[in-house]
Amino acid sequence: MAVPVSQAWTVATYVLKQKLKRRKRYPLVLMLEPLFRCNLACAGCGKIQYPAHILKAELSPEECFKAVEECGTPMVSIPGGEPLLHPKMPEIVAGLVARKKYVYMCTNALLLKEKLHLFQPSKYLSFSVHVDGEREHHDFSVCREGGYDVAMEGVRAAVAAGFRVTTNTTLFDGADPNSVRRHFDQLMEAGVESMMVSPGYTYDKAPDQNHFLGKARSRKLFRAILSNRKKSWEFNTHPLFAEFLMGKRNFECTPWGMPTFSIFGWQKPCYLLQDGYADSFEELMEETEWSNYGAKSGNPRCQNCMVHSGHEASAVDYNFSSLKGLMVTARRYMFPSLYKDADAEKLLNEWRPAHATPLVQIAAQPATSSAEMESVAGD
Ligand code: SF4
Repeated sequence: MAVPVSQAWTVATYVLKQKLKRRKRYPLVLMLEPLFRCNLACAGCGKIQYPAHILKAELSPEECFKAVEECGTPMVSIPGGEPLLHPKMPEIVAGLVARKKYVYMCTNALLLKEKLHLFQPSKYLSFSVHVDGEREHHDFSVCREGGYDVAMEGVRAAVAAGFRVTTNTTLFDGADPNSVRRHFDQLMEAGVESMMVSPGYTYDKAPDQNHFLGKARSRKLFRAILSNRKKSWEFNTHPLFAEFLMGKRNFECTPWGMPTFSIFGWQKPCYLLQDGYADSFEELMEETEWSNYGAKSGNPRCQNCMVHSGHEASAVDYNFSSLKGLMVTARRYMFPSLYKDADAEKLLNEWRPAHATPLVQIAAQPATSSAEMESVAGD
């Protein structure tokens, strides 16, 4: 099972309650960004290009708990920045677990082994480790030689200590689906509970603007990767979201499904765009012009977006919006499909990278140890 039964039950009953209350828009996962500081500088990341005083700022545990209570989601994802650089992250995680929130703490795992003793294994806590592909691909993607080995060491240490460990993989143009499939094998062999895979978003602040995937290329790539699955692979994304990535169904974006709270407040409208901030969750929901977003709106920034933070909540909502949605999803969970597809197999065998240009590399090597980062934060 890709997620514990108790988690699936909590989410299902939460969404059903929203439906019974006839809430047109409801949040599903809070994206809690307690800091933007990171110990990597990935070419495809749009989160760390802030001035030093912003990178030094962080949310307090109390601010995090207030945001969680305001929006009331059953799940909290903690991206960043690198959450393990936040000195109070263990206190924040413990507070969320005490509130019975299912927490996905996203980490590049450079500090995971070193900081593992500060956390307690729990069904409510999963380390979601960012691994973008096999060794060479991951190191290139995160612009750090040796990053893959450190991350995988962190994964194995966390699995051995009894933690739930999941992974998230972001794909850019030029990704080799055969390599991604080998990467899935390696992650499952390392003992991860389940995996998530998503296309990168075209952040206008990202140093590399040449390798983001358009929709047609995304669908082709994901069809090659996710068809003809191995039985050993477990994914923690909604099965219908995976079908959306593979081009088998379409969903409009529901940007309110995964609202983002950071040191700036509630971000309008989604995790990716920054069209202002609201002081409260209620203000975010009431005052955002939601019709200006999503592919249908014609907003050019939404045209190539297929990311999970905009579209996975749409799949979950579809799931609970009709008997058909319920039946389709129940069938996918009870009889998981391997998506046999001869054309996808051919695609895989004949795959040639679309571009030969390498990802932009960032020369500066940021600090990797917590001591180094603490000295930066204290400047
Ligand atoms: S389509 Fe993507 S960029 Fe546009 S609102 Fe949705 S999540 Fe944000």
